[in-house]
Amino acid sequence: FFSAASHELKTPLASIRLLADSILQNETMDQVTLRDFVSDIGTEADRLTRITEHLLALTRLDSLPAAETFPVDVSAVTRRALSMLAPVADAAGVALGSNLKDKCVVQGTEDDLYQICFNLLENGIKYNRPGGRVMADVYRDGDQVLLEVSDTGVGIPEEDMPKVFNRFYRVDKSHSSGGTGLGLSIVKHGAAYLGAQVELHSEPGHGSTFTLTFPKAGA
Ligand code: ADP
Repeated sequence: FFSAASHELKTPLASIRLLADSILQNETMDQVTLRDFVSDIGTEADRLTRITEHLLALTRLDSLPAAETFPVDVSAVTRRALSMLAPVADAAGVALGSNLKDKCVVQGTEDDLYQICFNLLENGIKYNRPGGRVMADVYRDGDQVLLEVSDTGVGIPEEDMPKVFNRFYRVDKSHSSGGTGLGLSIVKHGAAYLGAQVELHSEPGHGSTFTLTFPKAGA
C-alpha cells in the first residue's frame, strides 16, 4: 500500500518538477505557453490535494477507533452532496435528479455518509457524457434503508467490476480522468463501517448503479 501510495504521489510531483524546470530553462518562452505550463502545475497540485485528502480519509477509516454513531438522515445528507456537486454536474453537462424519501435514518456518522454519497455522485458525473444523467434515490424497504446512485455514463466492463473497489484501481489507467483510484475504496470502507452492503450493476456503454443497503438504525 505504501509503495502504491508513494508512486501515486511521485507522478504529479515529477510533472510539477518538469514543468517548473521547463519554465526556468526557457528564458524566451511566450506568454501563452507559460500560462499553459503554470496552469498544468495547478492541475497537478489539485491532483496531489485530492490524493492526499483521499489518503487521509482512508487512514482515518483504517486507524480510528469506532467513532460514536448517531441517527443520520440519509436523504438530508444526499441532498447536501447533490447541492455541492450541482456546479460540477452543470459544467459537465450532466443532469442531476433525485427521489429522496423521508424517514430514511441510519446509524452512523454524518461525515462518513457524506463522503460515500459525494464519491458515488461525483463518479456518476465524472464517468458520464454531456447530456447524461445521474440519479440519487433514497428509500426504505422494510427495516432497511437503501441509497442508490445510478448514471447513464460509460459503464464498467465486467472484468473490472470486482476490482474497482480496490485501492488505486482505475479502469482507465491514464491520469486524464483526474481520478485517484481511491474514491470507491473509501465508499467500500465507509459502508463496512456503517454496516452497509454495497452492490454494483453496470452495463458498458449504458451506465452503472451503485446500491448501498443499510441496516435499520439502532439494529
Ligand atoms: P477514481 O478517483 O479514479 O474515480 P474510484 O475508486 O472512485 O477512483 O473509481 C475507480 C475506477 O472505477 C475509476 O477510475 C473508474 O474507472 C471506475 N468507475 C467508478 N465509478 C464509475 C462510474 N459511475 N461509471 C463508470 N466507471 C466508474
